[in-house]
Amino acid sequence: AKSAGGRRWALFDADRHAREVTRYTLSTTMPAALTRGEFVVEYQPLFRLSDQALVGVEALVRWNHPAFGRLLPDQFIEVAEASGLIVPLGRWVLAEACRQARRWQTDRGRDLVVSVNLAVRQMHQPDLAGTVREVLAETGLESRLLQLELTESAVMETAGEPMRVLGALAAMGIRIAIDDFGTGYSNFAYLCDLPVHTLKLAARFVEGLGERPADPARDRIVAALVGLAHGLGLSATAEGVETVEQAARLRELGCDCGQGWLFGRPVPPDEIDRMLRVGVPV
Ligand code: C2E
Ligand code: CA
Ligand code: CA
Repeated sequence: AKSAGGRRWALFDADRHAREVTRYTLSTTMPAALTRGEFVVEYQPLFRLSDQALVGVEALVRWNHPAFGRLLPDQFIEVAEASGLIVPLGRWVLAEACRQARRWQTDRGRDLVVSVNLAVRQMHQPDLAGTVREVLAETGLESRLLQLELTESAVMETAGEPMRVLGALAAMGIRIAIDDFGTGYSNFAYLCDLPVHTLKLAARFVEGLGERPADPARDRIVAALVGLAHGLGLSATAEGVETVEQAARLRELGCDCGQGWLFGRPVPPDEIDRMLRVGVPV
C-alpha cells in the first residue's frame, strides 16, 4: 500500500512538473511569439435581440504555437498576466481589433462596436488611457466604436488611480462593459461610481433558460439582472446563447443583445466580412 501510495505521489508530481514546464515554455516563448505574429484575433458576433441585427463583435485572442498548436486564452492569458507580457499583448490585440473595426467601417460601410477584453494588469498601467488614445489615433477608429470589457474582480481591484483611468476612458467616449456580470463579487456599489455602459450577463444565467418544464427561478434572476441594467440606464448583453429557446426567452425578458454559438462562434475577420456581405440568417 505504501509503495502504491508512493507511486501515486510520484505521478502527481510528474504531472505538476509537466504543467510547470509547459507554463515556463509558454512564458519564455511568448515575447518572440508576439513579434513573429503567432497571435491572432478572432471575432465573435454580437446581435441585437429585437431585430437580429449584427451590432458588434468581441475580439478574442488565440495563439498559433509552433509546438503546441492552437492555444485558447485560458491556456496562456494567466501566464501572460504573471509575466507582464499581457501589457504588450493586450496593446497588440487592442490595435488589431481597432484596425479591423475601422476596416469594416471604411470597406463595408458598417459601424460595428468592437469589444476588447482588458486584463487586471492593464488596468494598473497608469498610461492606459494614453495608450488607448494612441491606438485610436493610429488606427483612425472613432472612440464610440470601442468597448472595453472588465470583469467584476478587475473592477473591485480598481480602487483609486485605475478608477480615474476608467473615468478618462469613458470621457473619451469609449464604452465600458462589465464582463461575466453576476459571477464575481456580489457587490453592486461600484456600479454607482463607474461610468459603465453595458452589463454582460455570464453564460451561467443563460443555461437552462427556455427549457421545458420552465424553471421560474432562472427566468426571475435574468429578469432581475436585466432590470438592474435598465434601471441604471445600462444595456444588457447575454453571453453563451446556444439555443433558439434561450434567445427567444432572453428577448422576452428584455435583454438587449446576445452572443453565443447560436449566432456564431469566434471566427477570423474575413468570416465577419462574409456575414456583412451576405447578411446573416439566424
Ligand atoms: P470571455 O470574455 O467571457 O469570452 C467569452 C468566451 O466564451 C470565449 O472563450 C468564447 O469563445 C466563449 N463562448 C462564446 N459563445 C459561447 C457559447 O455559446 N457557448 C460556450 N460554451 N462558450 C462560448 P475564449 O475565446 O476561449 O476566451 C476565454 C476568455 O479568455 C475570455 O472570456 C476572456 O476572459 C479571455 N480573453 C480572450 N481574449 C482576451 C484578450 O485579448 N485579453 C484578455 N485579457 N483576455 C482575453
Ligand atoms: Ca469578454
Ligand atoms: Ca464573459
